[in-house]
Amino acid sequence: MPAFLIGKRKMSLFDLTGRVAVVTGGNGGIGLGMAKGLSAAGATVVLAGRNAEKAAAALSEMKATRNKAEFFEVDVTSEASCRALIDGAVSRQGRLDILVNNAGTNIRKVPDILKLEEWHKIMDTNLTSAFVCSHAAYPHMKKAGGGKIINIGSMMSIFAAPFSPAYAASKGGIVQFARACATAWAKDNIQVNSILPGWIDTDLTKGARREVEGLHERVLARTPAGRWGDPKDFAGIAVFLASPASDFVTGTAIPVDGGYSVQV
Ligand code: NDP
Repeated sequence: MPAFLIGKRKMSLFDLTGRVAVVTGGNGGIGLGMAKGLSAAGATVVLAGRNAEKAAAALSEMKATRNKAEFFEVDVTSEASCRALIDGAVSRQGRLDILVNNAGTNIRKVPDILKLEEWHKIMDTNLTSAFVCSHAAYPHMKKAGGGKIINIGSMMSIFAAPFSPAYAASKGGIVQFARACATAWAKDNIQVNSILPGWIDTDLTKGARREVEGLHERVLARTPAGRWGDPKDFAGIAVFLASPASDFVTGTAIPVDGGYSVQV
């Protein structure tokens, strides 16, 4: 593995030993795929979500890496809960180096029947939570001399669909929010990037497959890799964007989609 010197310390480009990461929605799906990657690279990982049962299963899967991991119960639609997550992680683990804004939800309805409360639920979960968590994380990262923030977008950050008005707005917004933070916080050595997942087999898309006729086949036909993604596919990109390997990468949005976004 490539290595370089920081002061007198020889470091691997992808080594996260001694780093602390918070992953919202890290108790399942894509979040857990990323959390496992960060843990395997040496980080202490805080899995943040609502469902403690899912978290217990996630923590037991993460035991294999032998690195520290814990669950913190959070509702990302609450500002107080997000602030307790970030400040609590710093006080328990001593620092915060990596924040992954991954928690997300969807309500599949065309715009003319979407209710305002549903719009707010999606925006609060997918977009406002990223603002609140990043806002809470910034002073800690600045004080420590740097950090990494990773926002999870979607193909709906680029494309749109009739059944995703609020979801597409939130996912377009989270990428633009990352870009704004990247420009504001580059001076503090904080890199802020987005990942754009293609169609990944998780609890979220199990619902979509049930509700949207022909979706499964359309995804297979349009994805050059010829398969749905797996949460495991996100371990590597998370480690890259969380590690010194990406220190000059900021404000970008990287599709992890088996080629979906480049095929007509
Ligand atoms: P999952 O449903 O498996 O994961 C969503 C996670 O978000 C869960 O762990 C859930 O935790 C958490 N979450 C949702 N609402 C809240 C809340 N109010 N407070 C705290 N945690 C919350 O789906 P995915 O893994 O697929 O989704 C992860 C991210 O990836 C989302 O942002 C999604 O939009 C995005 N994405 C997914 C794609 C896919 O094809 N699967 C494609 C593009 C983007 P809990 O269960 O504890 O509530």
